[in-house]
Amino acid sequence: MEKSIDRRTVLATGALALAGAATRSEPAAAQAGPKAMFPVPAVTVPIVGEPDVFQVRRIYCIGRNYAAHAIERGSDPNREPPFFFQKPTDAIQNVKIGEVADHPYPSLTKNYHHEVELVAALKSGGTNIPAEQALDHVYGYALGLDMTRRDLQNAMAAEKKPWEIGKSFDHAAVLGPIHPASKTGHFTKGAISLAVNGTMRQNSDLEKMIWSVAEQIAKLSEAFELKAGDIIYSGTPENVGPVVKGDVLLCKLQGLPDMSIRIV
Ligand code: MN
Repeated sequence: MEKSIDRRTVLATGALALAGAATRSEPAAAQAGPKAMFPVPAVTVPIVGEPDVFQVRRIYCIGRNYAAHAIERGSDPNREPPFFFQKPTDAIQNVKIGEVADHPYPSLTKNYHHEVELVAALKSGGTNIPAEQALDHVYGYALGLDMTRRDLQNAMAAEKKPWEIGKSFDHAAVLGPIHPASKTGHFTKGAISLAVNGTMRQNSDLEKMIWSVAEQIAKLSEAFELKAGDIIYSGTPENVGPVVKGDVLLCKLQGLPDMSIRIV
């Protein structure tokens, strides 16, 4: 009998001591469970006019979404189903409004290409989203560059291998800040262009996209469950081409501030 009481007392005292120690020293860690041994920072993008940032979950890109670019890349522009690829989230290089950001010329390539694109950022998602409701999931828009190691992409494509090495590398997702659609409206038309050292290279209009942003979201959501934080590079117009160290790229999209980088 006495032994039993003693044991309960000891257990209770020990539990209190543990609880007290946890509460006083590291309450968050105690409640959250194991910590990351090598923590990885969240990837975020500034939002224009907001103190908070947009955390990126996944980067989707659509290929060959302007007829003239589809032709220059050797495919039929007659509304073939859109195809998608991803870039790693930490490939994002944030570019501020008004700066000319240094962009490192990547390894392995001798034919490094620019692709200026409209980027849509999602605040929600789902599967099998109807195109008519797709824009309800868009939080905002940004200017982006889907930078491409074209020689590596082409070489892998020729061997029917994944061309990830041509698209998914460090700094390959150049991105301006996000502009809330509540302020800019949705982008279905408007001039989009890219100049290199003051010479126009790409010059088109969003209304020439084969698949609209709404249709891209609808199609993507058939293959993937989309979620808040997903961003979509919506494809580039024709006249993609090479850049070299020292080149200054100036991207324009009607209705948004310009975005500029220098290849270093
Ligand atoms: Mn692209």
